[in-house]
Amino acid sequence: MQTIFNKWGRALLWVFVFSTAISTAFGQGTICQLCGMDAAKSETEFILHRKTEPPLHACCINCTRRVMKKLGDGIAEVTALDYRTRKHVPAPTAFYVIGSEHIPKGSMTPFVFAFGAQEDAAKFKDRFGGEVLPFDQVLERLEAKSK
Ligand SMILES: [Zn+2]
Ligand SMILES: [Zn+2]
Repeated sequence: MQTIFNKWGRALLWVFVFSTAISTAFGQGTICQLCGMDAAKSETEFILHRKTEPPLHACCINCTRRVMKKLGDGIAEVTALDYRTRKHVPAPTAFYVIGSEHIPKGSMTPFVFAFGAQEDAAKFKDRFGGEVLPFDQVLERLEAKSK
């Protein structure tokens, strides 16, 4: 009886260890919370910082919009990867180029490029086309498209 119990105990321990590893990979890793792509490989990555839980990653602004809708008040801050500097900047005050002919790596359509500086967004637009919009207007456009 003792040995059977030990075997089951060990099996349960492994299930626990394994499931913890999986939840860690999804909760704290760089996998996009919406589509499952690796957001760390995306040139249009966003990070959604939550109030108490670990931050979530998203591969593009459209996935970000949908995760924001799902989590609502649970999100404390959102940052966007600046396409020029490759550093994260606060998403609500960044500038976005939508409708350009440039294609980012590891992202999804419609391609939207984030810039911390308005000047960088304008330069990008001059080179690749599209238009410069603030965060809330990009979200509104995507929201309208999804209907
Ligand atoms: Zn995604
Ligand atoms: Zn996406």
